[in-house]
Amino acid sequence: MALRLNTQKTQRSYAKFIYIIMKIFLNIVFFRYLFYLWWQEYACFYLTKNISLCILLPLVIINHKELETLINFAKSSLPKECCAFLIGTNSRDEVIIYNIVTLRNYDESIFSFSIDPQDLFFGYKQADQLGLEVVGVFHSHPSLPFPSSKDKKFMRLNPFIWLIYSTVTEEYKGFIYRQQIKEVKLHIIMG
Ligand SMILES: [Zn+2]
Repeated sequence: MALRLNTQKTQRSYAKFIYIIMKIFLNIVFFRYLFYLWWQEYACFYLTKNISLCILLPLVIINHKELETLINFAKSSLPKECCAFLIGTNSRDEVIIYNIVTLRNYDESIFSFSIDPQDLFFGYKQADQLGLEVVGVFHSHPSLPFPSSKDKKFMRLNPFIWLIYSTVTEEYKGFIYRQQIKEVKLHIIMG
């Protein structure tokens, strides 16, 4: 009888221990989140006096298959630059690319690209039909994967994700305009 009571007591104190650990863990998560919001919204700017340091850049998530399709599209369009819309979801800290819409390079150029208004309309319509939004644009470069002066001008007008693939070095990089042009982190999902 005494042994049974002791076992019950041990089980109860074990459950209490787990409960306390969980409570501490949830409190840490909650306060870390509050601190994060406070830092983003108020503290960062007052302490650094530099708005660009406080800007939260989204993490861009793309599936390996979509990325491969874009790369193959760029290679098959050579020597011309190619372009495509990136379609997905957009939140404060994350951009997820679910789909792509390949577009015609209206410039037919090896050094620049532009999108015909009709194709623009088609791209936005495609995104809308999928219940998604146009979250960025992809294009290729016959040089390094960094925005050209023309790109920079249009990045200011279209502050979404700009994914650039170099057909020379076979590198890709993502950028966004947030007060200034910044490189974003790309996360490639396999499978
Ligand atoms: Zn470019």
